[in-house]
Amino acid sequence: MSSEQTLREEIVANGLKLTPSGLSQGTSGNLSIRFQNGFLITPSGVPYGEVTPDDVVFVDMEGHYDHPRRPSSEWRFHRDIYLARADVHAIVHAHPPYSTALAMCRMDIPAAHYMIAVSGGDSIRCSDYYTYGTQELSDAVVRALDARLACLMANHGMIAVGANMEQAMWRAIEVETLARQYTIALQIGKPVMLRDNEVTQVIEKFSNYGLMSKK
Ligand code: 13P
Ligand code: ZN
Repeated sequence: MSSEQTLREEIVANGLKLTPSGLSQGTSGNLSIRFQNGFLITPSGVPYGEVTPDDVVFVDMEGHYDHPRRPSSEWRFHRDIYLARADVHAIVHAHPPYSTALAMCRMDIPAAHYMIAVSGGDSIRCSDYYTYGTQELSDAVVRALDARLACLMANHGMIAVGANMEQAMWRAIEVETLARQYTIALQIGKPVMLRDNEVTQVIEKFSNYGLMSKK
């Protein structure tokens, strides 16, 4: 079990990767890691380059916190994902261009590439739209994440989850790559979908492949 300080530093370090990796810019997006009876989460509205380990806010599963900074406005969906999903220990929410463009069209990402298996299933669903920071948005994203490890958020962005922060960040970048490839394929022609058994085979192979195998 990592110490609280190590997890705070991990959140700061990964926040700094959001802009160079193309996942988010400015203060958009937020990161959290499950800790004790709650989670550690980025503060609201602070540019990633300015966030220190002490700025990371601990929020318990009732939504209580005791910190001079406010936790991310999306603490509700971080909490509700941890409550709904014992397998999730880290969450990345971002507004990357291609995932967000598909989400602006309220489109799912279908099984047009075998890497769809990073989502844990044969699609990446797009949630319904609700105002950021609301309980309604949280309920919608928990539904969109059912049996999945990533989702798009209508007219907003995307979420990737993982067994740890390294895996959640990796998955967020893979989802954005898939979104970019799918968007390009739609401009060229009509993407051909994989069959159910073809996706199932990849999901099985992924159980001992790279970061997917890490628990
Ligand atoms: P916070 O700065 O409050 O985390 O908000 C950013 C965001 O992406 C809201 O959805
Ligand atoms: Zn957002």
